Formats: sequence, C-alpha cells, structure tokens
Amino acid sequence: MPTILDGNRVRDRILAGLRPRVAALAAASRPPGLAVVLVGNDPGSEIYVRNKVKACAELGIASRTLTPPPDIATDALLAIIEDLNQRPEIDGILVQLPLPPQVDSRRVLLAVSPEKDVDGFHPMNVGNLVAGRPGPRPCTPAGIMELLRQYEIPVAGKRAVVVGRSDIVGKPMALLLLHAHATVTICHSRTTDLAGVCREGEILVAAIGRPALLTADYIRPGVAVIDVGMNRITDRAQAARIFRGSADRLATFDRRGSLLVGDADPFGVAEKAGAYTPVPGGVGPLTIAMLMANTVAAAEARRR
Ligand code: NAP
Repeated sequence: MPTILDGNRVRDRILAGLRPRVAALAAASRPPGLAVVLVGNDPGSEIYVRNKVKACAELGIASRTLTPPPDIATDALLAIIEDLNQRPEIDGILVQLPLPPQVDSRRVLLAVSPEKDVDGFHPMNVGNLVAGRPGPRPCTPAGIMELLRQYEIPVAGKRAVVVGRSDIVGKPMALLLLHAHATVTICHSRTTDLAGVCREGEILVAAIGRPALLTADYIRPGVAVIDVGMNRITDRAQAARIFRGSADRLATFDRRGSLLVGDADPFGVAEKAGAYTPVPGGVGPLTIAMLMANTVAAAEARRR
C-alpha cells in the first residue's frame, strides 16, 4: 500500500512550530502583521483570502485586508503598496493574484518591498532563490519541500520530474529540488513524450492544472507523486471516468455538483506510487502554512 502524504498533518506541525515564535514576537513588542490586498470579486480569491485571514487569527498574527475598488488604476494600487511598505506594524504584504486586467501586475509585484514580500515573488527574492541565498520562498513549493522532509523522502541524488513551469509553482519547485541535490527535469506543454519523461522521475511533481492528466502510464512504480493540481470538475461523465467505481466520490459529486481533482489520476497513482499527496488534503494545506512561516520570518528579520 502506498503512503498517503497527509498535508494537514504537516501543516499542523508547521503551525505548532510557529506558535512560540509568534508569542515571543508579541511579548517583545507586537505580533507579526500581514496585509492582504484583494482587488476585484474573484470568488476563488475571496475564499483564499478568507482562509489566510483565518489562519492568521488562529496563530495570533495581526492581519489587515485591503479591498480597493475593482476598477483601481495601477498608480493608485502602487500608492497603497508604498504606504504598506512604510508602515512599521506591517511585516508582510500579500497581493492576491490574479489582479484585474487594467492593472499592471508586474509593476505591482515589483513595488512590494523585498523584505515584506512574503509570497517570494519579487524579482530580488527570485534571484535569491536562484542563487541559493536566504530569502522568502514561494509558499507552495516551500511547503512541498517541508512535506518531503517530514516524511523523510530522500531527495539528494534522486531523479525529480516537475511538470509545469509557472513562476509560482513549477520553476521555484524545480530550483528548490535542485538546491536539495536532486537531478531535475522540468516539463511543460511542449515536452515530447511526457509520459516517458515522467516515468524517469523518482519524485514526480504535477503542477499543470489539467484534471487527472498523469495516468498510470506516467508513473514509475514506487515513486513519490506530489500533486499540486486543484481542478474543479463539473461534468458528471468526466467525474465518472476519473473516479470509476468510487461510489463515495460520485455521491459527493451528485450532492455538490462538482468535485476537486488533482493533475494525477487518483487510481493510477494509488496503483503504482510508493507515496502520494491526495487531493484534497495534500499540497493545499501547506501553502497557507508556509505563508504564515514567511510572515513570522519577515517579522523576526525586521526586529533584528
Ligand atoms: P499555470 O501557471 O497555468 O501553469 C501550468 C503549467 O502546466 C504550464 O507550465 C504549462 O506549460 C503546463 N501544462 C499545461 N498543459 C500541459 C500539458 N498538457 N502537458 C504538460 N504540461 C502542461 O498553473 P500554476 O499556477 O502553476 O498551477 C498549476 C496547478 O496547481 C493548478 O491546478 C492550480 O490550481 C494548482 N495550484 C495549487 C496550489 C495549492 O496550494 N495546492 C497553489 C498553486 C497552484 P506551458 O508553460 O508550456 O504553458
């Protein structure tokens, strides 16, 4: 039986490690402060922000949510970011993506002070990651490294295949695995023989955004499969194909009208992997935990 890599368990341990650090900061001066900037009415973004604010409250981090009008111009948003950069009580600034189309996202992300960039998206922090220098790391890949560490999955010397090359997940994931001494291959939509390349991986990370794309044929027996994908499917025939024979999951689909599916085929993974992250309950919980970790680390660094 493969090991199910439980993201909730890893998240709880990360948060438990942060609690005394938050308490020490609060006792010394004030709790860490996180500002979340949410522009527009994207329902997904609203849920993510709500969950981030809730995690802050549970941990004792002071959070502040700013909701500028959806039609805000780039310059006006830049002024908000500049104000947050100057505020002493704010240790971390998170700009929830995606931003509305009239806003120049690159200019906005560039405006966040690198010391307060808890997402690790500022080009200076991207450079720090590439060079292996200290700095905040993007939360999802950093959480995956923590999961591999806690489950004692060896990385050094292993063949790691990362499918997806986004700035948020795929690229930083590949760099973190490389720094941990894996031999890393990055795949994308133009990769030829994707299944063949994936089968070389002893660690296979899927960050694609295509429901159940990686079937059993992509998986070398015994590998660790890390499934970042979060795809909501609403087509019952597709759900029946992916969750063939799983009465439970199909009953959930019928109740809710949708199901969350990863990028890896759940049956293919369960059949061939040595360890895998389930969807939901795998990678998802790690991202917010690492955001909290980055906020606490930013607060500690600013008090030094
Ligand atoms: P993204 O920016 O859309 O990037 C997707 C990547 O997958 C691209 O590099 C793309 O290649 C590649 N790709 C697309 N179709 C492919 C195919 N058929 N074969 C091979 N590669 C293909 O997505 P993302 O932001 O990295 O997110 C990926 C998934 O992770 C999404 O489902 C997202 O919801 C999820 N996610 C989850 C969390 C979490 O906390 N659990 C966090 C972030 C993201 P090209 O570059 O060639 O286009």
